[in-house]
Amino acid sequence: MNKKMSKSIIIKNGRVYDPRNGIDGDKIQIHIQDGKIVEKVNEKDAKVIDASGMVVFPGGVDIHTHIAGPKINTGRTFRPEDHAKDPVPRTKITRGGSGYSCPSTFVTAYRYAQLGYTTLVEPAMAPLEAKHTHEEFMDMPIVDKLTFPVFGNNWFVLQYVKTNDIDKLSAYIAWLLETTKGYAVKIVNPGGVESWAWGKNCESLDDPVLYWDVTPRQILEGLSTANEKLGLPHTIHVHANNLGHPGNYTHTLETFKTLEKINPTAGRKKVMHLTHCQFNCYGGTNWGNFESAASKVADYLNSHEHITIDIGQVIFTNTTTMTGDGPWEYALHHISGMSPWGAKPGCKWINGQVEAECGAGLVPYIFNPKVAVNAIQWAIGLELLLSIKNKEQIFLTTDHPNGGPFTFYPRVLKWLMDRKSRVNMLENIVSPKADSQTGLKAIDAELSLYELVQCTRSGTAKCLGLEDKGHLGIGADGDVSIYKFNPDAENKGDEIEKAFTLAAYTIKRGEIVVKNGEVMATPMGDTIWTKANVKENLMDAVIQDIKEKWRDHYSVNFNNYPVQEAYLPKQKIITTNS
Ligand SMILES: [Zn+2]
Repeated sequence: MNKKMSKSIIIKNGRVYDPRNGIDGDKIQIHIQDGKIVEKVNEKDAKVIDASGMVVFPGGVDIHTHIAGPKINTGRTFRPEDHAKDPVPRTKITRGGSGYSCPSTFVTAYRYAQLGYTTLVEPAMAPLEAKHTHEEFMDMPIVDKLTFPVFGNNWFVLQYVKTNDIDKLSAYIAWLLETTKGYAVKIVNPGGVESWAWGKNCESLDDPVLYWDVTPRQILEGLSTANEKLGLPHTIHVHANNLGHPGNYTHTLETFKTLEKINPTAGRKKVMHLTHCQFNCYGGTNWGNFESAASKVADYLNSHEHITIDIGQVIFTNTTTMTGDGPWEYALHHISGMSPWGAKPGCKWINGQVEAECGAGLVPYIFNPKVAVNAIQWAIGLELLLSIKNKEQIFLTTDHPNGGPFTFYPRVLKWLMDRKSRVNMLENIVSPKADSQTGLKAIDAELSLYELVQCTRSGTAKCLGLEDKGHLGIGADGDVSIYKFNPDAENKGDEIEKAFTLAAYTIKRGEIVVKNGEVMATPMGDTIWTKANVKENLMDAVIQDIKEKWRDHYSVNFNNYPVQEAYLPKQKIITTNS
């Protein structure tokens, strides 16, 4: 077969799930030519995949996973015990590395491809560390990658919010996205991380940022207004204030409400994505009376469509937490470092600040099923995903590696798709508090395959504004995942987990990259970033502002700051005009 001929594929006899096109398990053929889904290819030139006894999905799109850059790399460095237990040998095609909670770059890409994922979002890039992030992206073959620079504690942002200069704020966003080759606006604990530089935090939406005289509410409103003014493909992507604290659900609802007045653009109805929402759905007033408030958050989301969320599901394992929310990691270090279980993993703690931009922290953590709080957290994630009706409004994540490594997604699917499996957990495995303090047991729903595709593919792609992904319609990218799974059989929990752990086939841009769970090829994927055009005189004025303050804010030269094209061997640019 010559090279040209090998570019077309026909997938036959599989049960196809493609919610964007209303296909729910029908046996239809999928044709791929030159990396795109097409109506029909010439059968005698095509490679035919017989997907009898299998389900066919669009490639997975993970909206929030910490995979690249200094934060995860620090995790790799300070947890030798983590990768010592999961060495990954090389094969004829793949490079060696290590896995578990802070996998090495190549292993990250291979493991995602083996799971059937083809597009990944690194959701928290320090702008000053952008080059490091893109360097790691270059070592992640197969998958397409996007990254979100953080904005919520950046001094230029705080200044423009303070003067309520939305035009300049918009131009600054456009400049920083292009300069760092970023895709969307990430906000982590707005204002709280700047206050943390002085040992403080912002504990409510109206708690002023130390020395700045702006509030988290103003930062959220300002950045979302600017985001919509620019017509960016994704909404603002928010890690809310007060993450991880008992009783924080009231703050979460308040955050949702404050965004009600923002008018969406870019052809969508959403104005904010609130990430790893499980960590923001807590009732009670202290760790003793800690309980789920998932039903309150779900009630709100079931009657409002301007917000999307992902869950940040907890997995019972030894993982590494890492976030731009420095004050939270400090709190977690105290909580877990003083815990009674053995090695006290939280005794290790790293904190970092990045010049005038942001901060971060890392703490190893064991989620223990017998610890009441951890068991309740586990139940809250499942409760949220099962009780929000529109599965394109809520997405499956573990906030890798915060709730646990992404490699556990198939286990989460087992709990979501099979009620018996989760009742077994509630009755036999986890602390009884997971039953008494949450509503999980009363939920009969089981996630369908159609919904599975919604919360891992069509919904995430739509939320990100990636029109060519998350579906199998004509013109979509030829990214497909195929699993040995019989939708008509009485699939038990463990069979569900097994089926989705290793894809029978993963196809990336029309090339078979995984077969029977094994990586077969490692083509380079795209790095996708957003170029938002603003009026030239406005951009000039903002660059003037930036240059004037540069030497007070940064230790590097202005000309050394931007990410050059050499860092993006394959790029795809989404352009917007405001
Ligand atoms: Zn995160």
